[in-house]
Amino acid sequence: MSGSVYKVNIPQQKTTWYLPAIFVGMGFTFKKMLKNLFDKKQMPTLNYPEEKYQYSSRFKGNHVLTVKKDGSIRCTACMLCATACPAQCISIIASEDEDHTVEKYPIAYEIDMLRCVYCGFCEEACPVDAIRMGPEWQTPGLNGENFVYDIKQLAYRENLNNGKGVISVVDEKERHQLI
Ligand code: SF4
Ligand code: SF4
Repeated sequence: MSGSVYKVNIPQQKTTWYLPAIFVGMGFTFKKMLKNLFDKKQMPTLNYPEEKYQYSSRFKGNHVLTVKKDGSIRCTACMLCATACPAQCISIIASEDEDHTVEKYPIAYEIDMLRCVYCGFCEEACPVDAIRMGPEWQTPGLNGENFVYDIKQLAYRENLNNGKGVISVVDEKERHQLI
């Protein structure tokens, strides 16, 4: 039995030279690299962490608990911020002062920064300027516990007036004199 033989015509591919294109690409990259090395000002990037971007003072970054003139915490533990927080990341334990003229205050105030969505509702809800959101945005940490900020971190961290805290615009005595 004689088998039929089929001939398939495979089109011959043209030889392609890639090397010239590779050299053109490398030349372009090298030109850009030299330009960036010798004219850093035109670069849109920053050499972080040596160079940091300065955000506006209105930037809603890390929280700050303000203090009274005597350095004690301004918060009256009214829970409005915790109630307004959509991420439910604020925990407060309130206590009363022995002096009946002094308002309630928090013996514990914590914000879980990993749950916070930086919406600013807590700042808006506070009636006594006790919590603000500042221009800081770096939140480094090695484990989850590092991201639960307590009163020490929120009010007295080193970069807040050398650890003395930020004084609230609402003064305790002045406020009661108005009432
Ligand atoms: S910024 Fe928003 S999510 Fe974060 S603690 Fe305040 S209210 Fe909660
Ligand atoms: S930070 Fe302001 S809103 Fe929150 S508990 Fe303190 S006083 Fe109330």
